[in-house]
Amino acid sequence: MFAFFNPVDLRFGENAISGVDFSLFGKKAFIVTGKGGSAKKNNAINDLVGSLNSKGISYEFFSEIEENPPFDLIDKGAGIFKSKECDFVIGVGGGSPMDAAKAISAAARMNKKVADLYEIKDQISTYPVVEITTTSGTGSEVTQYAVLTSYDGRKLGLRTKKLFPTLAIVDPKYTLTMPADVTITTGLDALSQLVESILSKINTPITDAMAVKGLELIKQSLHSVVREPSNITHRSNVALAATLSGITISQTGTTIVHALGYPLTSHIGIRHGLANMMTICQIVKNAAKFEPQRVKMATEVFGGTQGLCDFIDAIYPRPKLKLSDKDAEEFAREIDLKSGQVLNTPGIYDFEFVKEIYKSL
Ligand code: NAP
Repeated sequence: MFAFFNPVDLRFGENAISGVDFSLFGKKAFIVTGKGGSAKKNNAINDLVGSLNSKGISYEFFSEIEENPPFDLIDKGAGIFKSKECDFVIGVGGGSPMDAAKAISAAARMNKKVADLYEIKDQISTYPVVEITTTSGTGSEVTQYAVLTSYDGRKLGLRTKKLFPTLAIVDPKYTLTMPADVTITTGLDALSQLVESILSKINTPITDAMAVKGLELIKQSLHSVVREPSNITHRSNVALAATLSGITISQTGTTIVHALGYPLTSHIGIRHGLANMMTICQIVKNAAKFEPQRVKMATEVFGGTQGLCDFIDAIYPRPKLKLSDKDAEEFAREIDLKSGQVLNTPGIYDFEFVKEIYKSL
């Protein structure tokens, strides 16, 4: 028996925004974007504002979101949402503004600090959330997760069915402005999520089919899109792979690969998708001892585990981190060995195993 639940209304393709009637969500929108201004440069804001104006919908901008959005910004955004009496949230950007949009909507609706939502996550309500993605990686536009940074600097995932966005817009043309480093980082995040969803102990035949398709698209187009950043066919393939990766992890969750990456991001600033790449090969090799058929499915398109690792190395030569024993221990202590991410992963993972992985990086 397996279940599949993903209630997001997805619009994928060039000019996908044109068919959306934003008046269904209310009279005033709260638009959440990153602080770097990329949502304007890639024209997503121009298209969005045109659509809102055509329906007489007013809007407020909140353009302060940083990568790995901190709790403080969510609380601030929720406060402004309420004071401006908005009706719904539109997140425009990569995973950071999209996750922030979900969390702001919940914090505003519940009239609570975001930190308090973790305690009551299955009881929360939200305002409608529309996500317009401008990176090809996280799949956040179709997931029920918001990954945020706590007041004390830890990355914490908020997961509840209540956080599924109402509508997701994926238009590959918004990704054309991504510089090579963002294209690579985010594309590798999608790769990681697709592999992890196949490895996950709660895989399903539906997620397997989607993940294999996603991996084929990554194999076909990720290296090519770095070489030819203006090629809309390759951009579109990687965008579809990323959205598929979001749909798959919305069912299967991620694995210890993601859990191990969080301290690398919060303590030494390695971007999310690259942080996953630091450990994925070791975890896949370990998982093969327990679930060889799963690993075969996850790596077949690359010609096996070594082929997957070579594919990654060819696009992202992993740096040697040379963590001290003290750092390795500290990072290992942050991994909750009873979390779904760890329990989802084929293999046995204890403190010593995790510490040794960090020491090896
Ligand atoms: P991001 O943190 O949203 O953005 C990274 C950088 O890329 C920012 O400087 C951003 O600029 C820029 N950027 C975004 N779109 C661009 C475009 N089209 N052209 C040029 N630059 C662009 O990156 P991300 O990798 O998409 O998201 C990472 C976050 O998502 C992490 O916090 C991760 O934990 C989370 N995540 C969430 C899920 C989920 O299911 N919810 C899954 C995986 C990861 P701006 O400052 O202008 O935005």
